[in-house]
Amino acid sequence: MNKLEPVYQKEVKCPVCENTFEITKVRSRSIRLVKQDTDFCPHYEGENPLFYEAVVCAHCGFASHITTMDSLNRFEKQKVRKLITKRWTPRSFSGKRTWDNALEAFKIVLLNLNVREAAHSEIAKICMRIAWLYRYAGDSELEQCYLNHALNSYKEAYEEEDLSDEKLDSFTMLFIIGELCSRTGKEEEALQWFSRLIREYSDPKNKGKIPNMLIETTRDRVQELRQSEKMKSEVN
Ligand SMILES: [Zn+2]
Repeated sequence: MNKLEPVYQKEVKCPVCENTFEITKVRSRSIRLVKQDTDFCPHYEGENPLFYEAVVCAHCGFASHITTMDSLNRFEKQKVRKLITKRWTPRSFSGKRTWDNALEAFKIVLLNLNVREAAHSEIAKICMRIAWLYRYAGDSELEQCYLNHALNSYKEAYEEEDLSDEKLDSFTMLFIIGELCSRTGKEEEALQWFSRLIREYSDPKNKGKIPNMLIETTRDRVQELRQSEKMKSEVN
């Protein structure tokens, strides 16, 4: 029996130029999640499906996260045509991805989102993934830089966006904001965001809306942060 390649190609239609282009996906049977960091950064053995989440149209330079390909309105399409396509040299991002071309694809997505003035939560999601790519490579300076971008964008999303039908609900977002504060050296602020989530949990109107697992992890994180603050004050 022939061994199946871990990745396969699929044709999709570009929402901006309406040409078809190829995207590459990892077969679900080839995906092996080994562990996940507290900010949900996944670590895989073998092919990393995260590398393929940034899709780029070979013809016009439109790029987005794979889950939100069709969420542009006509004004955003115009902006992409005017500010991206005009400067785009046709090139394909299909096929097996290395760390380098995964990073490049995500940066083109980020450029697209900025040009479109897309939702803060979308921008944050991409910044998180770029930070994780730098984490895989052990580049903590650039990881920190993108975690900070993600943090600021999530904070704006939390304050301004209607999150009722988002994939990322407002409670998980509270957790991620706390987690990002903690990872970027803002321990006190992290504690404030985590406490806010714990307060939301004890509010009867949110009963059943917040997964127990999320609250358990939040309590663990609070304990860890308090412990390390205590240790710091004992040293000083
Ligand atoms: Zn296109």
